[in-house]
Amino acid sequence: MSDKSDFKIVYSPKYEVDIGGHVFPTAKYRLIRERLLEKGGLALDDFIEPLPVTAEDLSLVHTNEYIDKIKNGTLTLQEELMLELPFSFGIRDSFLICVNGTIMASQVARRTGLGIHLGGGFHHAFPDHGEGFCIFNDVAVAAKKLILGGKKTLIIDCDLHQGNGTAAIFAGEKRVFTFSIHQLNNYPFIKPPSDMDINLEDGVSDVKYLKSLSDNLPRIFDTFRPDFVFYLAGSDPYQKDQLGGLRLTIDGFGRRDKLIFGLCATNKKPVCVVLAGGYALNLEDTIAIHYNTCMAGMKICLGR
Ligand SMILES: [Zn+2]
Repeated sequence: MSDKSDFKIVYSPKYEVDIGGHVFPTAKYRLIRERLLEKGGLALDDFIEPLPVTAEDLSLVHTNEYIDKIKNGTLTLQEELMLELPFSFGIRDSFLICVNGTIMASQVARRTGLGIHLGGGFHHAFPDHGEGFCIFNDVAVAAKKLILGGKKTLIIDCDLHQGNGTAAIFAGEKRVFTFSIHQLNNYPFIKPPSDMDINLEDGVSDVKYLKSLSDNLPRIFDTFRPDFVFYLAGSDPYQKDQLGGLRLTIDGFGRRDKLIFGLCATNKKPVCVVLAGGYALNLEDTIAIHYNTCMAGMKICLGR
């Protein structure tokens, strides 16, 4: 670290794909960018657009057989049902771009201290299959590249749902520490163990959630000593989320951001934030939570 003037936010308009009347709001990426331009003081040239990921990078995590199935659109009906997304070449392309988006944001973070990807966090994807709206595991691919470059990597997964794909991919990998805080009684019902799983009962709100983070994360920084951090800033622990059963408030998310970015800044660790899930009844709330995360990261990690 760090030339902070090198900072760019990674985004592609191709993340907005028509998937019909689906709970997954693919418009959120565009709307957050618009909010950052209108209210966040950012300019058009503060954003960079990724190209699709290379086959070489993708195969660091995913099997060639699975990559071919996605590239050629030859998933079986059962595989498509497991994905819970209507497969199309548009959605395929958005995922290919998204994986490289997280790689690019991690590279920005290495140069400046902070990377923001307005996308990513598809933690339910496994090497040989996708599930739960996740085709490819962007954070796992970017983390693999980091550990191959000698960087110990901490993945802080704050999405409502447990990071089952990420946990399975990095099982036994000492150079990656996977931390997942999630609602216990929710998808995925089989949860391969992360290095640390915080299983929250239904209805947990700000105080207990934040205490679970502040009781554990500082210790992980001290003992694991990461060189790099990913933050999956899912907004689905929100009290008005359609898929979730936790009860965080918008203020609680602000404190979560402050805690995590604060730990990264204090420990001088570059952090790459990806958005992950968010299905608030009112899309406006999802946008507000993710927008606040971006602003908090820039304030705490870049001092702007
Ligand atoms: Zn989720």
